[in-house]
Amino acid sequence: MSPASGTSNATTLTGNTEPFRPSTVIDLSIVAANYRAIRSHCPASVTAAVVKADAYGHGMAEVAATLSEEGAKDFFVAYPHEGEALRRVVPSDANIWVFNGLCGTLPGYFEAHALRPVLNTLVDINHWTEYSPKAPYALHLDTGMSRLGLPTHQIDAAQKRLTHPPSLLMSHLAQADDPEASANVDQLDAFTAAATHFPDSPLSISATGGLWLGADFHLDMVRPGIGLYGGGPTPPTTCDLTPVLTLTAPVLSVETHPKGGRVGYGGTHLLEAETTIATLGIGYADGYLRTFSNTGIVWLGGHECPVIGRVSMDLITVDATRAKTVRIGDRATLLGPEIDLEAQAMRAGTIGYELTSALGGRICRNWTR
Ligand SMILES: *Cc1c(COP(=O)(O)O)cnc(C)c1O
Repeated sequence: MSPASGTSNATTLTGNTEPFRPSTVIDLSIVAANYRAIRSHCPASVTAAVVKADAYGHGMAEVAATLSEEGAKDFFVAYPHEGEALRRVVPSDANIWVFNGLCGTLPGYFEAHALRPVLNTLVDINHWTEYSPKAPYALHLDTGMSRLGLPTHQIDAAQKRLTHPPSLLMSHLAQADDPEASANVDQLDAFTAAATHFPDSPLSISATGGLWLGADFHLDMVRPGIGLYGGGPTPPTTCDLTPVLTLTAPVLSVETHPKGGRVGYGGTHLLEAETTIATLGIGYADGYLRTFSNTGIVWLGGHECPVIGRVSMDLITVDATRAKTVRIGDRATLLGPEIDLEAQAMRAGTIGYELTSALGGRICRNWTR
């Protein structure tokens, strides 16, 4: 161990703030620019905004307020309680659609907060028509995903109950991230065929992936989520989307360790040479996935530094041998301009959606615009 390491990192302490926390910076001007880019990509459709799961970890209230200023009028959440919170921050003429349907909530709750359920089952349809026969709703048809949505063979039964047409007829693509998949056209065909039962209802089938499958898939409304945040399937070069969130974590220690040592729980990384390890204040309790163990990278001191050893609850260890100037209190970037969201997600065997939406309550969030 080099004698000076551990003592050379003089830092200035501050008063009652706590600078050594993992934190995100969320640039709302980029959310707005992504929304505008998507809207001009589908000029004939309404561009809704999916802000479920706290806007995929970007802050539902901040994102929705920004997009309202950009002219967004339709917002999607997953749960009624998300819709209630959203209702307080968007203009009263905004439409708030709840993907998961009634969720066991009385239809009166939806009317009280001016929420529109997406009805996915005959059970929900029965409840809704019994209590709220006149209120607007969406109907979700399953056209091949086998997840949520009314099977098309139940349309007749549904129509016997429904007293007025859905304000939105929607379906969801299972393989939109693969433009070659024949399932995309199959689902679109099944959807437009079923839609002939509801000639007065606007149609929507595309989330972000569907945006890039061609104008046939845009229909009356598109429902991007991850694209607003700069992730998801790669857009065409004509539609430039930029990641919105930067995630950084503080360096808590910098120590040089001799060849032959082992790093972290389970000793899963063997030091094959003398190595400078920077230990960062972030872990799986913050939503930094444990599957980044021995596979993630961070940007530190102007270099890509690999995560070595296992991710623990509050800490990760990175090989900072190349980043010679690194000091305690410096910040490493885990997602951001130098560390691409989808490329990083692939290292953990997942998708960008999971990385941002998993970011947890200990992360200090900052919004800029
Ligand atoms: C989450 C969700 C979306 C948004 O998906 P992205 O891939 O993030 O654009 C759209 N529609 C439905 C039904 C969803 O569940």
